[in-house]
Amino acid sequence: MKQRSHLVMLPSPGMGHFIPMLEFAKRLNLQHKLSTTLIIPHSGPSPSEQNTFLETLPKEINHILLLPPKDDVFEADFTIEMLIASIIPRSLPSIRNAIKSLMESANLVALVVDLLGTSAFDVATEFNIPPYIFFPSSAIALSLFLYLPKLDTMVSCEYRDLSEPVQIPGCSNIPLRAEDNPFQERKSMGYKWFLNNVKRYKMAEGIIINSFEGMEAGVIKALQQQVVLKNPPIYPVGPLVQTQNSIPTTSLKVKGSSSAAAEAARILKWLDGQPPASILFVCFGSLGSLSHAQIHELALGLEMSEKGFLWVIRSSNNNNNNNNAETDDDRRPPLPEGFVERTKGRGLLVSNWAPQAQVLSHGSTGGFLTHCGWNSVLESVVNGMPMIAWPLFAEQRMNAAMLCEDLKIALKPPSNKGNDGLVGRDVIASSVKNLMEGEEGKQLRRRTKDLMDAAVKVCFWCISVVHV
Ligand code: UDP
Repeated sequence: MKQRSHLVMLPSPGMGHFIPMLEFAKRLNLQHKLSTTLIIPHSGPSPSEQNTFLETLPKEINHILLLPPKDDVFEADFTIEMLIASIIPRSLPSIRNAIKSLMESANLVALVVDLLGTSAFDVATEFNIPPYIFFPSSAIALSLFLYLPKLDTMVSCEYRDLSEPVQIPGCSNIPLRAEDNPFQERKSMGYKWFLNNVKRYKMAEGIIINSFEGMEAGVIKALQQQVVLKNPPIYPVGPLVQTQNSIPTTSLKVKGSSSAAAEAARILKWLDGQPPASILFVCFGSLGSLSHAQIHELALGLEMSEKGFLWVIRSSNNNNNNNNAETDDDRRPPLPEGFVERTKGRGLLVSNWAPQAQVLSHGSTGGFLTHCGWNSVLESVVNGMPMIAWPLFAEQRMNAAMLCEDLKIALKPPSNKGNDGLVGRDVIASSVKNLMEGEEGKQLRRRTKDLMDAAVKVCFWCISVVHV
């Protein structure tokens, strides 16, 4: 009997990688009847947010949770980026075993890795499975990554010391300023590892990118035409975001489900009671965090703006996922004296995680202060939600520049930091007012709605361009 066609997907750790890849698997199943197994590597226990998604998968999408790699690498020395990037290379023996056993029952037609997973291409080659990359970020970020091996040979200093912006081929309208370059330390282990990773992009049979022409027409066209770079074929399939149908339904129930689901229900109920388009959603993605001092300024800025807000607070000073904490107050970083009482009713604080896709589609939400992770950007665009861009790391500053200067759907990142290196409360308050009620905010909203219309048009058919 002919074996069924089946895909293997390998997301690197982080919800920003996992959520869009899962969404891709769901659309392939829905529109092409293709089944998938997700092989999920870990360095520790799998995050509870991820488990909520895994509990609700259709039967055509399976998953294998790998055990943390058995090696003697001392992870405490790693930055968060290195920790995430190292998991797939360190998990290769168990990835190989998982693929080998899948091959006994299925015809594996593709191994799909994300932007950090090219070390697994060796396993694909060994078993003769076509390797693909699912790129969960912007087309400009992909262009930079493809260009990086060449740039690395052309430049001898640190990129941050270049006096002129880098012109990435095909991205002429968005020159890469030194301060927006995600690679600030070329001597670091992380940079060297990443360079080797992107050198292997050319081994892919194709690169599937979660973007669409309405947002990045010129850059996508240049990539597709291989104007300067000899890259593999590019398939734009975006915007792939969680839809009402794909959001785990358990997150909407309260009874009989996890505390995360109860928390999601609490947040949505609070939003139900707020006036239309009145709430600014403040969230720095699944990993982003601020120092205690910056949290203090942000709190006072939100208070001074006199606008409503829903704020997912995560601190970089301590671990506010503190498992021993009994209440939200225990988990929360210190806030200005009396802040919680003074903003009661118009502000809601959330520790760690909110159901972002649902929050952004809620009628009471009127703006998004975001770290500019690509999934957050797309989720904002498909809901016509204007943004304040506050990028933190990786390619987020490039995304922010595109949103603010090219597409003009976000307010400029609060850049006038004081001597203390913090974004001050005054700048924050005026940005929030401007977004929520100012003339500039209105224009941003109009342009975001136009992009939303463009996104809706491509959402349902674009995935059919991928032939696996
Ligand atoms: N997310 C969420 N709730 C949170 C934080 C994040 O649902 O409190 C989701 C968000 O909707 C998005 C993903 O996690 O789908 C984050 O991806 P993104 O690319 O924006 O940022 P990253 O976490 O990779 O920095």
